[in-house]
Amino acid sequence: MNFFEKEIEQKLSNLKKEQLYREINYIDSASDRYVDTMGKKLLMLSSNNYLGLCNDKRLKDAAIKSIGTFGCGSSGSRLTTGSYRLYDDLERSLAEFKGYESALVYNTGYMANIGVISAIADSEWVIFSDELNHASIIDGCKMSKAKIIIYKHLDTVDLEEKVKLYSGEKNIIITDGVFSMEGDIAPLKEITEIAQKYENILVMVDDAHGTGVLGERGSGVVEFLGLEGKVDIQIGTLSKALGSEGGFVVGSNRLIEYLKNKSRTFIYTTALSPSSVAVSLEALDIISKQKLERRELLEKTYWFKDVLKNYGFNISDSSTPIIPIIVEQNTKAIEFSKGLLREGLYVQAIRPPTVKVSRIRVTIMATHTMDDLVFALKKIYKVGKQIGII
Ligand code: PMP
Repeated sequence: MNFFEKEIEQKLSNLKKEQLYREINYIDSASDRYVDTMGKKLLMLSSNNYLGLCNDKRLKDAAIKSIGTFGCGSSGSRLTTGSYRLYDDLERSLAEFKGYESALVYNTGYMANIGVISAIADSEWVIFSDELNHASIIDGCKMSKAKIIIYKHLDTVDLEEKVKLYSGEKNIIITDGVFSMEGDIAPLKEITEIAQKYENILVMVDDAHGTGVLGERGSGVVEFLGLEGKVDIQIGTLSKALGSEGGFVVGSNRLIEYLKNKSRTFIYTTALSPSSVAVSLEALDIISKQKLERRELLEKTYWFKDVLKNYGFNISDSSTPIIPIIVEQNTKAIEFSKGLLREGLYVQAIRPPTVKVSRIRVTIMATHTMDDLVFALKKIYKVGKQIGII
């Protein structure tokens, strides 16, 4: 064994000791309400497929039709060979849906965050970042060479104190719209007010989990909070409520023109396959009409959370279909998840470094029936009692 093999063996064994070792579960069916995995059919309570579109016939037909016309791979980066006309259609539709001048599609939301942040903020910039922002924002900040100021989660008093110190410099406040592991919503009204009060501050919101889920039209957290026109840049993903894959940014025409020239994760990668783009276009058309599904999704979520609270579980302040059940110890989180799996539920344990405090994270889908949810609640109660957390 060379020095590197020895070193990583040691690191892996430490992860196992601390119950932080990660393993992949393989799935043998479409991503839907129920999935086939580990030789069982399990009720899916761990996906970002909020509106159940991943296995929707209309999306599958769009993919098949597009493959028939355009084939499979895109064969090159957007600036060389891979930019199908469909991209232009999708970008126009995304910009209109989100209420911005222009949009640019990336291969993932992760790549959108790192590509946008690192292209905008050089060493003359100051980034104010919520302490619980998604890993892709954190990595984008690190790649940007800007000064990074972390403010306390959702704490706009702390944010303003820090912003005051850098007033007049080139500043950007970056926050998740919906926090992926907490399910809570950023105080965007207060954040945009701070940005208006001081000089030279942009606001950028990552709306990965709000897009398709929040707001009458489903355009996300900015619409939900009535703050249209107040957020300079939004990031989104096509891989959650839209049931497709890819990421995007929306902003001014000039910003998008700049990113096409300067954003490395846009420039130096092979474009998404045309079928993914065709699926996103179809999904966008569907979600803008899914008012009822969105309303039902939130109603089911609020009800589900109330029942869990009444059972005595420690649910953090979530107000979206992401429901974290805090268990604190890594071992308990794994025991909880394994116990639920035995009972027919697919629920993942989330542990450090993804979060500070271990938990299981339940996500509700619009397509879950009340029978599914009652079944899930009974099992969560049973396993929670067995492992002694209620
Ligand atoms: N931002 C947030 C808040 C996310 O939760 C995620 C995905 N977990 C991403 C960005 C990355 O999106 P994608 O999965 O499309 O890379």
